[in-house]
Amino acid sequence: MHDLPNGLPARPNSLEEHWLPFTSNRDFKENPRLVVQSEGVYCWDHKGGKLIDGSSALFCCPAGHGRQEIAKAVYDQMTTNSYTPHFQMGHPGSFELAKRVTALLPEGMNHVFFVNSGSESIDTALKMVMAFHRANGDGQRLRFVSRERAYHGVNMGGVSLSGMVKNRETFPVVMPNVVTIRHTMTGKDLFHEGQPEHDGVELANDLQRHCETYGGSTIAAVFVEPVAGSTGTLVPPKGYLERLREICDEHGILLVFDEVITGFGRLGSNFAAQHFGVTPDICTMAKALTNGCIPMGAVAAQDRIYETITNASPMNAIEFFHGYTYSAHPAACAAGIAAMEIYEREGLFEKAAALAPYFADAMMSLRDHELVKDIRTIGLMSGLEFHHDGVPGRRGAKMQKDLFWNGCHVKFTGETAIVAPMFIATRAHVDEIIDKIRTTMDQQL
Ligand code: PLP
Repeated sequence: MHDLPNGLPARPNSLEEHWLPFTSNRDFKENPRLVVQSEGVYCWDHKGGKLIDGSSALFCCPAGHGRQEIAKAVYDQMTTNSYTPHFQMGHPGSFELAKRVTALLPEGMNHVFFVNSGSESIDTALKMVMAFHRANGDGQRLRFVSRERAYHGVNMGGVSLSGMVKNRETFPVVMPNVVTIRHTMTGKDLFHEGQPEHDGVELANDLQRHCETYGGSTIAAVFVEPVAGSTGTLVPPKGYLERLREICDEHGILLVFDEVITGFGRLGSNFAAQHFGVTPDICTMAKALTNGCIPMGAVAAQDRIYETITNASPMNAIEFFHGYTYSAHPAACAAGIAAMEIYEREGLFEKAAALAPYFADAMMSLRDHELVKDIRTIGLMSGLEFHHDGVPGRRGAKMQKDLFWNGCHVKFTGETAIVAPMFIATRAHVDEIIDKIRTTMDQQL
């Protein structure tokens, strides 16, 4: 391939200087996989190959790549007002975006704090919980509850809550007072579409046991991904989230949903909260908030959380000593507003819901393959888990690379492919993703 429109070579002369995140750097630099262009559900690599995006680029881009409306909105914003900080001043875009986001959330969640990533949204939610309890005269609530196989980003707050060993073992200095409950993969509901049948209440009762061990009045909050995404689409069993909500209410514990993946239509509803009919006290989001175009995250809170924290200080005082230089950056707000307009105008959450049954059937069509251990699907997300080849992670890493060169990008975690089509995808696109996965599976035999 020749030079790109911006004059850069399609394959940089040196790959050494950039230290890539969550990547086997030495291996990657020997045979890089570079995307030089993207449009709709497709991308093109530096050798000219065309790929279908089977994971919506880490769940970020449900409306597809290269959306002109978002590019124009960002350009217009940048040429009107390129940056205004938000400390004791502001710009109109953040208020407009906050209004649109709250309109999608369950009733009563009318306050949104903007950040720049999912990881920042978790740290912010942790601080919101602490500030709420302190303002409420409940400052003894210092214990947090998380879950095995949880992923809440990579900042120190998120690492403290993490249930993924590789994300923790190198970084031992984390928040004290975090206890975990079990993950929800019991092995009883293999090849399951939607919510598993077994053990929902029993698994949620782990929280009750922590209340009985430590005292419910010492627990500040429980953090859960409604569907655990990064560990391979772990769908909550029936009754699980409802029981967590019940225990939280009984003991005054806040329930935080990490909706960084499930927010904005991934399950066919606005948020997972509506899909499961369980309303959290605080909800984090990122990724699809701007269709992945500009980094942005957010934390939404119930009115009583916002009001308790703000009313605890005198009128002219800063109420919450937290925020980032780039919180609610004008370009990100412009991208977010444009993304919300596209979602609504094109009915993309409804399209996701309509495509979900076809997608589930297509995924389940792979169950006959001898490499496949389990398949889990809900909405437009699925975990396709393979038997490992004796060395955990090796088959997944190889398959991800082979799949790329076969013309499909899918995110992998260990031996599990996380398939998550865009909401603009058609049935033919789903078929294309499935065909490429099957071809790649066959090549491993
Ligand atoms: N929380 C969840 C549930 C996620 O899936 C992720 C990222 O995948 C994060 C938090 C962290 O988001 P970011 O990578 O934007 O920091």
